[in-house]
Amino acid sequence: MMSFSSSHPVVDLLTSLMSIVSTSELEHEIGIFLEQRLQSLGYTVERIPIAPGSTRHNVYAYLGSSRKTRLLLTAHMDTVPPHIPLTIEGDIIRGRGSSDDLGPLAAQIVAAEELRKEGSVRSEGDLALLFVVGEENGGHGMIAANDMGISWEFGIFAEPTESKLAKGHKGQVAFELISYGIACHSGYPHLGKSATFALLAVLNDLSTATWPESDLLGPSTFNIGTIEGGEKHNIVAPSAKALCEVRMVSDLPGIKDKVAEIVSRHPDVELKFVFEYPEALLDWEIDGFEAAPVAFGTDVPRLKDEYCNKRVLYGPGSILVAHGPNEYIRIPELINSISGYKKLVLHFLQQ
Ligand SMILES: [Zn+2]
Repeated sequence: MMSFSSSHPVVDLLTSLMSIVSTSELEHEIGIFLEQRLQSLGYTVERIPIAPGSTRHNVYAYLGSSRKTRLLLTAHMDTVPPHIPLTIEGDIIRGRGSSDDLGPLAAQIVAAEELRKEGSVRSEGDLALLFVVGEENGGHGMIAANDMGISWEFGIFAEPTESKLAKGHKGQVAFELISYGIACHSGYPHLGKSATFALLAVLNDLSTATWPESDLLGPSTFNIGTIEGGEKHNIVAPSAKALCEVRMVSDLPGIKDKVAEIVSRHPDVELKFVFEYPEALLDWEIDGFEAAPVAFGTDVPRLKDEYCNKRVLYGPGSILVAHGPNEYIRIPELINSISGYKKLVLHFLQQ
């Protein structure tokens, strides 16, 4: 059953976006769609490869000829697998990307259109839209945005925050521990060296270490995500490894040093850092908006302060259904977020 609101422009746009498979690495088609849509709305659109020669590209749109604008609206085009086709039931849109992040992305485009029609933004220099690849898979799209040669005074990042301004979120340091032993008959363990014992020892030290806390974001936490190792119950294990992370609230370099120091006490264990981004602290005291910290990571800290100093994170939908089989967004919340984005744009442009 279709409801009254399913004929709203933001619903039409989201329906088109969700009909395209856009899982990370497969963002080409949705990028082309957005490029054509934004061109048809009168924007100047640039297709920006995320590395020289790369076929993966971000989409950057602005009015007129000035690439540099005061404010940036930005969202990610990629979604997590598997693609889940769209269905609409009453006031609920279900399917992959409905809340993370194509619903918030569609609301940003419609908000920009309404502001243009109302004459609230200048014909150039006020506002640009940047849609990036790879947020769900390492952030290569937003990292590439640091090389655009542009800085913005204000950035409005779209993610499903239940229409609250995010006060900030933790950062993340992920690392692999690889332990090397010597296999032998387990009846004579003194003839070998156990990689699993060595790994457990370092994991124990990491588990009992203390990490920074913050009033806003709470404690940094350590997690052992995976452990594997050994061959058989009667063989002293020749190798073992674990994949771990610290969800951190401050001092990313200090945390990496501490992890390295702890691991260095265990000569048979090697450390490889695989992934990191710092915590995000955001501007969030704005009249008319509720604010709350969030517990998920975003592209916000990947765009360096020097290129975008004041940042907010806001969007319709809930992260609690994102990445799961039952992802959805409520149409009334999606529509309301358009005025949320407009309010934020005007709040910043009036500064
Ligand atoms: Zn997202």
